[in-house]
Amino acid sequence: MKIDYIIVGLGLAGLSFSRELEKNGKSYIVYEDNSQNSSIVAGGMYNPVILKRFTPVWNAIEQLNLALPFYKDLEKKFNKKYDYSVDIYRIFKTIEEQNNWFIASDKPRLSNYMVSEILHEKYEGIQSNFGFGKLINTGRIDTKSLINDYRNYLLTMGLLKNESFNYEKLKLDQSNCTYEEFQATKVVFCEGFGLSTNPFFNYLPMKEAKGELLVIHAPKLKVDFLIKAAVFVMPLGNNYYKVGATFNWKDKSKNPTQEGKNELISKLESFLTVPYKIVEHVAGIRPTIKDRRPLLGKHPKHNNLAVFNGLGTRGVMIAPLAAKTLYNHLEKGVELDNDFTINRF
Ligand SMILES: Cc1cc2nc3c(=O)[nH]c(=O)nc-3n(C[C@H](O)[C@H](O)[C@H](O)COP(=O)(O)OP(=O)(O)OC[C@H]3O[C@@H](n4cnc5c(N)ncnc54)[C@H](O)[C@@H]3O)c2cc1C
Repeated sequence: MKIDYIIVGLGLAGLSFSRELEKNGKSYIVYEDNSQNSSIVAGGMYNPVILKRFTPVWNAIEQLNLALPFYKDLEKKFNKKYDYSVDIYRIFKTIEEQNNWFIASDKPRLSNYMVSEILHEKYEGIQSNFGFGKLINTGRIDTKSLINDYRNYLLTMGLLKNESFNYEKLKLDQSNCTYEEFQATKVVFCEGFGLSTNPFFNYLPMKEAKGELLVIHAPKLKVDFLIKAAVFVMPLGNNYYKVGATFNWKDKSKNPTQEGKNELISKLESFLTVPYKIVEHVAGIRPTIKDRRPLLGKHPKHNNLAVFNGLGTRGVMIAPLAAKTLYNHLEKGVELDNDFTINRF
């Protein structure tokens, strides 16, 4: 069967690229084998401010301008809510942090997000001796529901194969990529950390970071904003909260560990003083790159193979912009910026 594209992987990268193809009337098939789950376990937050240093995230406004309508559109398509507006309260550790916040909030790119006044309200169960800095116009995408719904949609359309893509079975010639019954003009690899086993693109320097998260039930903690301190505590509704996340650059498994759990508990209890119960513990591997930029582009030798990766710690914001950028490159010949292209390696 002749089709335009084969997509390998359906996390946030594969989903965004598939959506781009659908909007442009291209035919495709997706292979997904559940070998990675970064997009499913992700916190799903979007926030244009780096909360350690109070500096802007690279390209954040451009990313959000595309991302928010992208998720709105999917809400309409599936008649379901995925985008939850959530303010962020950053707990200050020192007076110096308060001053740095005040200075940063005045900068033009951040003033729509950072509220300049320092908040001194007290909330039951949260230790905050130096008050909070408040971020607005931020939120979370329920990536787990979105990806599940999108996969079900593709399944019913006959566009998803729940199986591993076997690289050895791919046959390439000048104009075609033949795989099983499909003859596609291009294959786009969106495998997250699965890239490490892709013989065409595993030369790219991924510096993956495993992350673990807890879901807790804390009936006495009555906040509807995200608290950011040593870890974040994100409201999910009905007194459930997501707590995360760890960063581990050595462990390459996606299994939750006792070590990760202990770290999260110890950091959580450095500022949370109400009782809670852990109800879930998950882990995934973030496909991060040393320079914290995405990886897009065609294979240096095989013109009909492309990669879409490197979404790192912020896939929710970057994926829709990166998908459009890659599509315009592959279909319209638009050059990729140095920040996006794999040619920088
Ligand atoms: C603990 C944690 C918290 C996070 N929190 C946030 C957050 O709050 N906000 C945010 O924006 N980002 C967050 N992230 C990062 C975000 O999850 C990633 O940026 C993003 O999900 C990466 O998407 P992806 O599609 O590139 O990779 P993945 O989600 O890993 O998807 C790749 C897919 O490809 C499939 N695959 C791989 N190889 C094959 C193969 N050979 N055949 C078939 N299928 C294959 C995998 O099964 C997988 O489904 C977090 C990540 C973690 C781990």
